[in-house]
Amino acid sequence: MKTIIGFGLAVAAALVLPARAEDKEEGGHEHHAPHGGTLVVFGDEAAHVELVLDPKTGALTLYVLDGEAEKAIRVKQETVVIRILWPASEEGAERKTTSVTLKAVARALTGEKVGDTSEFAVKLDELKDAKEWDGEVVAIEIQGKTYEKVEFNFPKGNEGDHDDHDHDHDHDHDHDDDHKEGK
Ligand SMILES: [Zn+2]
Repeated sequence: MKTIIGFGLAVAAALVLPARAEDKEEGGHEHHAPHGGTLVVFGDEAAHVELVLDPKTGALTLYVLDGEAEKAIRVKQETVVIRILWPASEEGAERKTTSVTLKAVARALTGEKVGDTSEFAVKLDELKDAKEWDGEVVAIEIQGKTYEKVEFNFPKGNEGDHDDHDHDHDHDHDHDDDHKEGK
């Protein structure tokens, strides 16, 4: 009798574990920034932008991406304005802000042009070695929807702690291990 119960429990456990892992993957965030940058999400995973900063030159590039952060989405606007809120120089000090205008980039290879492109860029001296700042996408229209004043942190993005988790592997692991492997 005992053996049968024990067997039953083992089967139940075996059935429960994979189902749980699936739930986690569906509910979690599975996408990666294609250019290794910072992801900013719009709406309920409706679209993203990815920000890539070259700290040496102060060049900031913005890529408009779909809900999975995989495919480029072209937008009509010719500029994207980002408001940067710099860290306070000392506690209690007022934080400086800078409005940065990124311009539409034309790409002969993909046929993207100003007014129909997924890429925007700017170069700004103040962004050289700017490791952490808060930002706000002032306004962007993606696939007919306008998103305004969307706040994010650079380099963390605005997707909460999702950014620290990569659930794209089949096996289960905690993200501490993942970070160690990556370095
Ligand atoms: Zn996302």
